[in-house]
Amino acid sequence: AKEMLQHLAGYRSVTADGKYVRLEANISSLKELEIALRGGAQGVGLFRTEFLYMDRHQFPSEEEQYAVYASVAEKLQEDTVVIRTLDIGGDKQLDYYEIHEEQNPFMGYRAIRISLDQPQLFKTQLRAILRASVHGSIKIMFPFITSVSEVRAAKALLEEAKQELRLQNIAYAENIPVGIMIEVPAAVMIADALAKEVDFFSIGTNDLIQFTLAVDRMNDRISQMYDPYHPAIIRMLCSIVEAAKRNHLPISVCGELAGDIRALPIWLSLGVDSLSMSAHSILQLKSRLIYASQEECKDIFAEVLDCTTSEEIKAALDQYMEIFD
Ligand code: PEP
Ligand code: MG
Repeated sequence: AKEMLQHLAGYRSVTADGKYVRLEANISSLKELEIALRGGAQGVGLFRTEFLYMDRHQFPSEEEQYAVYASVAEKLQEDTVVIRTLDIGGDKQLDYYEIHEEQNPFMGYRAIRISLDQPQLFKTQLRAILRASVHGSIKIMFPFITSVSEVRAAKALLEEAKQELRLQNIAYAENIPVGIMIEVPAAVMIADALAKEVDFFSIGTNDLIQFTLAVDRMNDRISQMYDPYHPAIIRMLCSIVEAAKRNHLPISVCGELAGDIRALPIWLSLGVDSLSMSAHSILQLKSRLIYASQEECKDIFAEVLDCTTSEEIKAALDQYMEIFD
């Protein structure tokens, strides 16, 4: 079946009624980039940089990071890579950097919280990204944002990093776009205010589901409660995309739900600009997308919004997607 899909790699990801949705890959290494490119990815919507920091003995230097980021940007040519700054903590730990044991690591010292608390560490990464930005099309993305102040603090450190490079006469893209992950309910509630601070949003459905439903995404005992099709999640998604559109921001999705065939009518109806997923999901999703119609998905989504249980929502979505089996 994989071979049968391969011919789709060169197809444009446009619906039967002409809506184009960029299909991008989530990657954590150069090796995964090769797989993504063979699979027809039109860019990298999420580069999880924490894997550059893992399985080693010390933090990666600016030079090391620069080499990797520049290489990703070069290999993508005119396509874009969204480089997410360090998101350790939670389920991802570093052998050489001790984080005190925490009761709730997913809600603890992680991601942008560490970056803002350790500005030298953060600026090393930002300088590496900035330097790489002259080798292709790069966007910066901050993870786990919960407030406007965090975004401003992160942007202030980005300005410092730029200033340092300027004084050293090192080239970088002055207008590098800056975006944030929307993956915490607080960010959804203040999306209009956040939108005024940044150039794009990307929805992180993995964390958003975990925090909206209060379900630890790593806890097997309650994994049946980790439900992407809970009506509360559908409303969250709706509200994020509406806020992005009101503020004329591009909106992407980079959590697991982006690559879930069942969710496709949601994304098409809401009109997201891009979906970023594991490389192996891209052609599968594209094989459905090219037969789907945005107008029909809007009808399905209207039904979905009337549903009060996840079972009803899944049934409404499947009745549409099954046409393509
Ligand atoms: C997410 O939370 O949806 C996401 C893409 O980030 P991660 O899975 O790396 O936490
Ligand atoms: Mg996340």
